[in-house]
Amino acid sequence: MTIGVNCGHTISGAGYGAVGLIKESNHTRLVGYSLMEKLRAAGVKVVDCTIDEAGTQNEYLAAAVALANREDLDWFISIHFNASASHTGQGVEVYTYEGRQYQDALDVCNNIAAYGFKNRGVKAGSGLYVINKTKAKAMLIEVCFCDNQADVDLYNKIGGADTIAQAIFNGIYDYAVTPETVPEEEHDMPLDDFMEFVGEVARQDWIDRKIMLPSVVLAQAIKESARGTSELAQKANALFGIKKNGWTGKTYIKAATEQRSDGSYYIVDNTEWRAYGSWEESILDHNTYISERSTDGGKTLRYGPIIGCAEYVLVCQYLQDLGYATSLTYAESLINDYIEKYDLTRFDAADDEIAPGGKKWIVQLGAYKSRNKAESLVKKLEKIGVISMLQLYDTNEESSM
Ligand SMILES: [Zn+2]
Repeated sequence: MTIGVNCGHTISGAGYGAVGLIKESNHTRLVGYSLMEKLRAAGVKVVDCTIDEAGTQNEYLAAAVALANREDLDWFISIHFNASASHTGQGVEVYTYEGRQYQDALDVCNNIAAYGFKNRGVKAGSGLYVINKTKAKAMLIEVCFCDNQADVDLYNKIGGADTIAQAIFNGIYDYAVTPETVPEEEHDMPLDDFMEFVGEVARQDWIDRKIMLPSVVLAQAIKESARGTSELAQKANALFGIKKNGWTGKTYIKAATEQRSDGSYYIVDNTEWRAYGSWEESILDHNTYISERSTDGGKTLRYGPIIGCAEYVLVCQYLQDLGYATSLTYAESLINDYIEKYDLTRFDAADDEIAPGGKKWIVQLGAYKSRNKAESLVKKLEKIGVISMLQLYDTNEESSM
């Protein structure tokens, strides 16, 4: 993750910032360098795109953009303070390309407004050179009005540049950080091992919390993560595509594909998905999400009928009916393509002991050195209706099972 920070204008001459009750060029630097420090301390790579001197206004802008475009940035952030002819303008605003309402741009604006500045919102800044010409996603922040007494008083009162830098940092940090990835081997499992791993975590959680039937959790995990090979599974440790929805942990941004009720598809860009420290965490959060999700402020639980339900056909149908996925064939696919095909209900028995790893429980009727004794057992078993096969085994090999 790499972020470019531009501390607004030059420090003197052409391209110099507004001078109100405080000087824009000084305070954009105080805010910008404080922000860079916080980002670096959090492990984010920072590219300083500040230009101190330039021959002309255009030269300063072009130089800042050239610095930004030299690197592959995830965000370009330009910091400014506003001014108005009447000195009565007040508040914070953030500009993005075509006014795109990126969650992090909204959060930056809201975080600054939370200190009492008027919230002027996230607006279209396509006419602004640095927004238009930078390759990366870009936001230009007008912290407040440097020529308005009330804004400047408030800015000083709340702690000035450092407080503003923290508000900006808090707005982008959640989204800027990619989660730690778990060791590679855990990310590359054949289907059988994947089923054992997820099935066992789901089965243990069913015993502990009785939220969601393990066979359905496992079917969803295989389907939604392509058995752990999807981008979300690999880069965000997320086996289920759960959107941010009130989650305060790390998130991962990628487009979402949704299906309309008429069957057609559409793409939602920049969707924020929950990200985790491990696959196990993802499985447990999926169940917590099912047990807590409410879309009416906590009055009712959206997935109430699923909680504790031990019938996989019902659980799958509820998931679809209650809107877990927009795909019109979601329930049918979970049942036919996964649960029944791979016999996933074996993980539903809470009092069962599932053999770990590649191990199996083996039933053995008897083993003899003498063929006659072995044949006599076969005959005894035939009398009670059990057909058994007589074979010569290498018992050294057998004992390793
Ligand atoms: Zn400015």
